[in-house]
Amino acid sequence: MSGINEYHNPINKTHSNKQRMQKAINDMSEQKVVDAVVVGAGFAGMYMVHKLTQLGLKVQAFEAGTGVGGTWYWNRYPGARVDIESMEYSYQFSEELQQEWNWTERYAPQAELLDYANHVADRFDLKGHFQFETKVVSAIYDEQARRWQVQTDDGVVTSAKYCIMATGCLSSMNTPDIAGLDLFKGDVYHTGSWPHEAVDFTGMKVGVIGTGSSAIQSIPVIAEQAEHLTVFQRTANYSVPAHNQALKPEFVENIKSNYKEFRAQNSQHAFAASFEPDDDLAVEATKETQRARYQERWDYGGLGFLTSFGDLISDQDANETAKAFIHGKIESIVDDPETAALLSPQQTVGCKRLCVDTGYYATFNRANVQLVDVSEHPVDQATKSSVVSHDVEYPLDALIFATGFDAMTGSLMKIGIQGKSGLTLEKKWAAGPRTFLGLSTSGFPNFFIISGPGSPSVLTNMMVSIEQHVNWIGDCIGYLQQHNLSAIEATLDAENDWVDEVNEVANETLFPTCNSWYLGANVPGKPRVFMPYLGFPPYVEKCDEVAKNGYEGFSLSN
Ligand code: NAP
Repeated sequence: MSGINEYHNPINKTHSNKQRMQKAINDMSEQKVVDAVVVGAGFAGMYMVHKLTQLGLKVQAFEAGTGVGGTWYWNRYPGARVDIESMEYSYQFSEELQQEWNWTERYAPQAELLDYANHVADRFDLKGHFQFETKVVSAIYDEQARRWQVQTDDGVVTSAKYCIMATGCLSSMNTPDIAGLDLFKGDVYHTGSWPHEAVDFTGMKVGVIGTGSSAIQSIPVIAEQAEHLTVFQRTANYSVPAHNQALKPEFVENIKSNYKEFRAQNSQHAFAASFEPDDDLAVEATKETQRARYQERWDYGGLGFLTSFGDLISDQDANETAKAFIHGKIESIVDDPETAALLSPQQTVGCKRLCVDTGYYATFNRANVQLVDVSEHPVDQATKSSVVSHDVEYPLDALIFATGFDAMTGSLMKIGIQGKSGLTLEKKWAAGPRTFLGLSTSGFPNFFIISGPGSPSVLTNMMVSIEQHVNWIGDCIGYLQQHNLSAIEATLDAENDWVDEVNEVANETLFPTCNSWYLGANVPGKPRVFMPYLGFPPYVEKCDEVAKNGYEGFSLSN
C-alpha cells in the first residue's frame, strides 16, 4: 500500500498523552524563546506571521509540510480548485498585492493557488519565520511564567507569550476503517494528502469512496483517465455547475479599479462572498418565478445558488422547491433513471456544503463509470485486489478516499494542548468545542485560534474570515503589548453566552438538519455540535464591539 502521506495519515493516533506533555515540561534541554508561536503555514498562518512581525514581535512558526499553502499544499487531487471566485479568494490587506496578482480562471486551480501562496510568502518575506517539516506535538501553559511551552517533534521546546493556532478547519483527514486494507496491493490515496508528483490512472481500475466536494471535483477528471471507475456513494450530494472559464480582462479590470468597494460590499453578505442575496421568499414566489430564478443561478454557476431566495436555508418548504429543481436537472443530465435517482440527494439543500462541479452528473453517463450505493452496506473489507461491500467484490488497482476531514477541531485535538490547572483542550471540549467568538477558549490564556469553532469560517469565504481574525488577534496582541499586560483570557460567562448564541442562530436555520461535518456527524464518536457561526456581518460587529469596550468578555492581567 502506498500513497497516503505519513504526516496526514489519520491511522496515526493523536499525540495527546500525559507522558508526552510531562516530557515537554521536564525536558527543556533545547529551548528557544520568542514572543509568539504560530502553527500552520496556510493563508491564516502566513498572514498572522506578517501581522505579528509588523508589530515588532519575534515569531516562530511551524508547519508540517515542506512549504506554505495549507489546504492548497495538501489537496493536490485531480480537478482541485477553489469554489469561491478567485478575484475574491485572495488577501485584501495589501492594495499592491491585489493589484499585481493576476488570476487566470474564474475558479483558480490548486497549482495557481499554491503559486499565489508562495508569491505572498516571498513578497512579504515570511518563509524565514517558518520551520517546515516540523509538527507541534504539545503546547502547555506555564502559569507561573505566563508563557506557552510549545514542543515540536524535533524535540525542541519553544517558549512564547502567545500561542496561535492556524491549523485549518479541514486539515485532519477522516479515513474509514476497512478490514484488511493493509493487504490491498494497489495504491491508496486520500484527496486531502495527495502526492506531489502527478498520478497517472491510465489503464487502471480505480475506486473512489465518498461523494463530497473533493470527490465531485476529482471524479470527472479521473473518469477520463481510468479504464474503469467505481464510485462508492453513502450520501448523494447536491452540486451546481461551476461554469469555470478564463477570466476576461474587462471583468478583472472592473474589479481591480474598485477593489476596495468590491470587498466592502461582499463583507456585508452573510457568507462574505459576492453572490447577490435575493431576499424575496421562495414560498411567496410563483412556480414560474422560482424556476426562472433557479435557472438563472444555475446558468451563472457557483455557490450563489444557495442565495436564490431569502428563505432557502430557513424554511423547509422553500428548500423543497430548490431540491425539486436540482432533482429535475439530475434527471435531465443522467441517462439511466436508476442512476439519476441514486444521485438525487434527499437531505435539505445546503445542510451539507453545496458542491460546485464541472461535468459531475454527466460523468455517470460514461460506460466506464459505475455508481455503487453503500448507504446500507459500507465498504468494510479489502482483499489483495479489491474492496468489498455487501459481499460483492469490486476489483481495483487504486483506491481513493475522498472521505473528508475531522473538521474544525481535528487538528487541534491532535496536539496536546494544556491550559491552566492542567486542563487539556481535549477534556474541555469532550462534549463539543466551546469558544468565545471562535477565537479563544476560557482557561487557555494568550491562546488564539484562527477560524476556530464558533466563528463564521467555513460558512464564509475563508480568505475574508481569516483576514478579519488575524486583524482582530493582531490588534488584541498589540493592545496587550502597549498596555504592558501579561495575559488575556475569555471569561467563562462570555464563552457560555457565545456558545448559546451560535446554537440559537444555527437552530433558526436548516443547517443542523442532516449528518454533516458542520455538526461533526461524519466522524464516528465525535459529539454532535453545530460548529460554525452563521453570519459574517453580525460576527464582525460583535468582535469590533468587544475590542472597542476594552476586550469585554475577556479578563486581562497585569
Ligand atoms: P466531505 O464533504 O466530508 O465528503 C466526504 C464524503 O465521503 C461524503 O460523501 C461522505 O459521506 C463520504 N464518506 C465518509 N466516510 C465514508 C464511509 N465510511 N463510507 C462511505 N462514504 C464515506 O469531504 P470533502 O469532499 O473532502 O470536502 C470537505 C469540505 O472541504 C467541503 O465541504 C468544502 O468545504 C471543502 N472543499 C472545498 C473544495 C473547493 O473549494 N472546491 C473542494 C474540496 C473540499 P456522508 O455524506 O454520508 O458522510
